[in-house]
Amino acid sequence: MSQGSWIEINKTALGQNLRYLKKRLGSKAKFVSVIKGNAYGHGIEEFLPLAEGFGIDYFAVFDASEAERAVQVKKSATTIMVMGRIDKEELSWAIENGVEFFVFDLARLETAVSIAKAINKKARIHLEIETGLHRTGLEEKELEIIIDLINNNRDYLELIGICTHLAGAESIANYFRVQEQMANFDRIAQYLENRGLQPHFRHIACSAAALIYPQSILDMARIGIGQYGYWPSMETKMNSLLSSENKFTRDPLHRILSWKTRVMSIKEVAPGNHISYGNSYLTTKKTVIATIPIGYSLGYSRSLSNTGHVLIRGSKAHVIGSVNMNVFLVNITHISGVKTGDEVVLIGNQGKNKISVAGFSELSNQLNYEVLSRLPASIPRKITINGKK
Ligand SMILES: *Cc1c(COP(=O)(O)O)cnc(C)c1O
Repeated sequence: MSQGSWIEINKTALGQNLRYLKKRLGSKAKFVSVIKGNAYGHGIEEFLPLAEGFGIDYFAVFDASEAERAVQVKKSATTIMVMGRIDKEELSWAIENGVEFFVFDLARLETAVSIAKAINKKARIHLEIETGLHRTGLEEKELEIIIDLINNNRDYLELIGICTHLAGAESIANYFRVQEQMANFDRIAQYLENRGLQPHFRHIACSAAALIYPQSILDMARIGIGQYGYWPSMETKMNSLLSSENKFTRDPLHRILSWKTRVMSIKEVAPGNHISYGNSYLTTKKTVIATIPIGYSLGYSRSLSNTGHVLIRGSKAHVIGSVNMNVFLVNITHISGVKTGDEVVLIGNQGKNKISVAGFSELSNQLNYEVLSRLPASIPRKITINGKK
């Protein structure tokens, strides 16, 4: 049975993004591809092997269930790192399988040590340090006991990384907070090293930090949104445009995801009628409407009611009336020759037109992260070579 819509992943564009971002990181830093949130909606199972094909061999996920999915499709030499949730029972699976994980509290470290002893295999850890995000991270006053625990259990722990996460590097509004975090990190990492903790990698940068603050790249950078083809913010893009070194004429980042469906039915509505449920849209003239078989249960947000738009036959068609559970309507009065079964672009290009993420013009960059990661995992993903199947 077919699904109502499908997602296309452009392999060519991914290759271009990765090449550009790797160049920005420089040859010394390890590139970690962040694939939490089902690879920002692109699909872990589809995205990971594609990225491996371009030489990426380190991936970061949020939790153990994402790590398990990644482990199932990865090459054996590829490394997986869990940045967030991992329950006690899952820790033994992680250690057994060489899956790395962040340590941001003492309890997780103690459990890891006891499991590592029991199964006689080293736990591969990254110490996450509190530097000012105030989300997760080890407090300075906890470090003494952590240092002792690690130094006393060298046979059971491999200190892969010391890291932190920055509080909004994509916005200049957070400039001082981020500078302070970087200074805190330097100081604490130095202190840990003086106490004998030598990690393989020190890492703090996400996409925005790597692009705006090159000094944040250190030994490794955790790159999410950029590899999917989105600048973390307009400021990030501006910053590159204004620098002599990284100035560009053609945007080096290309969106790799498109979301498409087909027109389900077409009808004509006389002037003076309300469209669909309720009375949020009244026709003022003869209006031709097309039914699109995607609704809020399938990832098309209700907030796009009377606001979003799609592409049909290369033209923009506006969403009219409310987005329902399984369908919404668009106005196609101005587009001639539309037929049932015509391709509809919800996100992506058609002809000369383009729909940015979910029909909004870029009102907010945070929206890219949210809308992408909420694309239902059940929508089939297809790989294309430069848009061609
Ligand atoms: C999501 C995330 C990243 C990647 O952020 P982008 O802005 O998408 O590059 C890096 N580090 C941590 C801890 C994250 O949660």
